[in-house]
Amino acid sequence: MSDLADLSITSAHELLDSGETSSSELLDAVLKRAGITESHLHAYLTIDKAGAAEAAARADERIAAGDGAQMTGIPIALKDNMVTKGVETTCSSKILSGWIPPYDGTAVSRLKEVDAVTVGKTNLDEFAMGSSTENSAYGVTRNPWDTERVPGGSSGGSAAVVAAGSAFAALGSDTGGSVRQPAALCGVVGLKPTYGLVSRYGLIAFASSLDQIGPITRSVEDAVVVLEAIAGHDVMDATSYRGAVPDFRAGLSAGVAGLRVGVAAELLRDDMQPEVLAATRKMVDQLSDAGAAVRQVSLPSVEYALSAYYLIAPAEASANLARFDGVRYGLRVDGETTEEMMARTRAEGFGPEVIRRILLGTYALSAGYYDAFYGQAQRVRTLVRRDFAAAYENVDVLVSPTSPTTAFSVGEKSTDPIAMYYSDVCTIPSNLSGDPAISVPIGLDDAGLPIGFQVMAPSLGEPVLFQAAAEIERLADFTARPRLATSEVT
Ligand code: GLN
Repeated sequence: MSDLADLSITSAHELLDSGETSSSELLDAVLKRAGITESHLHAYLTIDKAGAAEAAARADERIAAGDGAQMTGIPIALKDNMVTKGVETTCSSKILSGWIPPYDGTAVSRLKEVDAVTVGKTNLDEFAMGSSTENSAYGVTRNPWDTERVPGGSSGGSAAVVAAGSAFAALGSDTGGSVRQPAALCGVVGLKPTYGLVSRYGLIAFASSLDQIGPITRSVEDAVVVLEAIAGHDVMDATSYRGAVPDFRAGLSAGVAGLRVGVAAELLRDDMQPEVLAATRKMVDQLSDAGAAVRQVSLPSVEYALSAYYLIAPAEASANLARFDGVRYGLRVDGETTEEMMARTRAEGFGPEVIRRILLGTYALSAGYYDAFYGQAQRVRTLVRRDFAAAYENVDVLVSPTSPTTAFSVGEKSTDPIAMYYSDVCTIPSNLSGDPAISVPIGLDDAGLPIGFQVMAPSLGEPVLFQAAAEIERLADFTARPRLATSEVT
């Protein structure tokens, strides 16, 4: 590759290590790329040029002293629902406009500890509610493969910058698919780790029992590198996993011979885009040819996962978003009484999708309906967990498409929330179960848009997840790049 901005983290690290390039040069390359692509994409909400330049200078000193880690000096972007000390954090909502956090979230501070370089904050659907990044109060992000199309969501900005080369990697958050689905639609790798493996401290909560931070990268190994930097117990998050972090690299070059791969009929549905189905089936055949033992499995409760999610996630959101009341953070719209001030602030500060979720969640939790809606959804969640557990008695990993379609057009689904919700039909089950899942690009559809392939594994099964994903990456040999990631575009 001719341009530094297109390198993988692992190759950039080698060049840094050998002194062939510097962190400042890597930063210049991604900023130059952003200078070309941002007017087309609007993937960044904030670019912190001064902060990034200082971080790059620090990284260069550290590398010169022989003290660099894998992420040292690597330019990375953060979804704007992660709090960053001294840098505005909006969650793409008007209600947080102008809010400058006084601290860093744990994933962010772990990256800073190794002197990774934070380039800026990326656009998302407001409070991470959506699948297209159209629900941002600060404008739509576009897909680098076709700017008439959405990048997916809610971490659409993060996926777009990685695909476009305006960051080497990005962090996203995945509550129902928001790392994996945009990664699939932008032709990059997206990982949702096991719930609890990455601290949620400083991730502005959407649905706390489902939220998980994960990396978006251009290769499977790069996802490992970023995960290694951010995973592990954190006293600031009571749900953070206390045990030892597994060896994510254990299976990276092991191949899939003898690996038991399950295909769930419920996640390969006839109403999905034909090219997505065909590419998925072709990859399953390739895995089988590479020695995997492919088995059909059934996850009968998964049919109800989407419905259960749209009760549990809004219920938790309605509680989490109660704190945005005009008293403590961001926007305040005055009123005659405190109550009126709060009501006005919330009515003006939240966008339509966020209001819809708060109403849905409040209703699902209200006395008299609690058991019929929220309680029932929790029971479905238990059934989904049991289905996965039963499947994993017979297989090591499960596979499916990541998203039922490739990138759709801007505006195509924005007036039809149910059609939009369906985007996450394959990704939501792993959030309900808490298990890890990854999306790997495997090909292009007839319109030249990327197709993502999802691998799922049992809790803390990241080593086998990466083992399968690395082989899928080799088999797919996906080398296509979006037009916007080439220096010819002006
Ligand atoms: N698209 C799903 C939703 O709108 C998932 C969002 C997410 O994972 N943050 O809720």
